[in-house]
Amino acid sequence: MIDPAASHLANAPALILGGGIAGLASALALAQQGIASHILEKRTSYSEEGAGIQIGPNGTRILQQLGVAERLQPLVGTPEALSVRDGRSGAQLALLPLGDWIAQRHGAPYWTAHRHDIHTALLTAAQADPRITITLGDTAASITPNDTGVSVATTGGRSANGFTLIAADGIGSTVRTSLFDGAQPTPYGKSAARSVIPMDAAPEPLRRQIVTIWLLPDAHVVHYPVSGGRELAMVVVLNDTHLSESWNQPVAAGEIKQALRTSASMLRELIKPVHDWKRWTLRTLPVPAQLSIGNIALAGDAAHPMLPFFAQGGVMALEDAAVLAATLGSRQGPTGKLLADYASSRRARVARVVAASQRNGRIYHLGGAAALARNAVLRISRPQHLMRQYDWLYGWRAA
Ligand SMILES: Cc1cc2nc3c(=O)[nH]c(=O)nc-3n(C[C@H](O)[C@H](O)[C@H](O)COP(=O)(O)OP(=O)(O)OC[C@H]3O[C@@H](n4cnc5c(N)ncnc54)[C@H](O)[C@@H]3O)c2cc1C
Repeated sequence: MIDPAASHLANAPALILGGGIAGLASALALAQQGIASHILEKRTSYSEEGAGIQIGPNGTRILQQLGVAERLQPLVGTPEALSVRDGRSGAQLALLPLGDWIAQRHGAPYWTAHRHDIHTALLTAAQADPRITITLGDTAASITPNDTGVSVATTGGRSANGFTLIAADGIGSTVRTSLFDGAQPTPYGKSAARSVIPMDAAPEPLRRQIVTIWLLPDAHVVHYPVSGGRELAMVVVLNDTHLSESWNQPVAAGEIKQALRTSASMLRELIKPVHDWKRWTLRTLPVPAQLSIGNIALAGDAAHPMLPFFAQGGVMALEDAAVLAATLGSRQGPTGKLLADYASSRRARVARVVAASQRNGRIYHLGGAAALARNAVLRISRPQHLMRQYDWLYGWRAA
């Protein structure tokens, strides 16, 4: 049944707060449903967006549906495998299949990319779509729900009206803190330092199209190809009590070298030439009990910031966008009910992914006898069997 209350879909746009992966993907997915949107983004220009990002088949499938995969294809890495190594000895503990194996299993590839390339592809597609308006330098100052939707006043004195507000304003979401449960993410006691180097600056054995994870007590290092395989993105996760609000706080190279001084020689070789590390403080937040209230819904990190140990935060933002658009696009009832449907279909899944990310972090950072036991299990497990345990994650499709 098409509810007459949903007829305002034709008259006012969806307001989207935030033009990150969640906001841009939501706008593109809504446009495919014939729904116009207005993205209000507080930044005045877009600059480099972090370093690397891994996108599992559950995310690349959505990039294909949004029509941006072709543009991205020459820019991404398509790793053949995931190599898990003991960070002290350097020994390979497991080599898990990605490449053709995962693409055939889940009908979409596993990509590794520069975050900037993903963001630019989404932004370029959104800018080319007449149903999407993007205004930069627009920070929400107040949000007022009303009978037909939501109105947003910006700090610059402008106002915008929409039939709904999708809060895609990131981990520090002011919508979540002011209108939802008010919870603030808490520091996890670790940070992620990131950098990108030319592939040929890496030690020769590491110049491969694979994802590599080095496991150490209380730390791990991940690296993978980006920029069509010409560069290598690295992330070093360490115990760290510094608090940074930005993605891009510089870290002295000596600090990273010192932290990894007892690691395998090949890993020390890899980080030796790197001088431009940027730090991101890791924070956690339980998934809020409500992901929508009335005509307002949370999406992406605003809804469920997660630790990066499962490489799924950005992918969950893509999934949110796909589900939001399909639900609103069904026009099967008033907006508030459709957003409640979206929230109930997302909550259990994102909570599972948040929990799996935390569990992965604990396993990665084991030390002593527990690390030896973990390594023994990895060595004797059949690689395809290990990967099949993630069918629930990578095989996901919007209903
Ligand atoms: C070290 C690290 C590694 C990661 N690796 C991966 C990975 O491999 N795979 C993966 O899928 N994910 C990964 N992630 C997670 C992923 O980066 C995030 O989940 C994703 O970028 C979230 O996108 P978003 O659009 O929800 O939020 P954001 O990217 O934070 O975008 C929010 C936007 O809202 C804007 N904004 C904020 N407040 C306002 C306001 N009041 N008014 C207007 N605009 C506002 C901001 O300027 C910003 O542009 C990683 C994260 C980290 C920290």
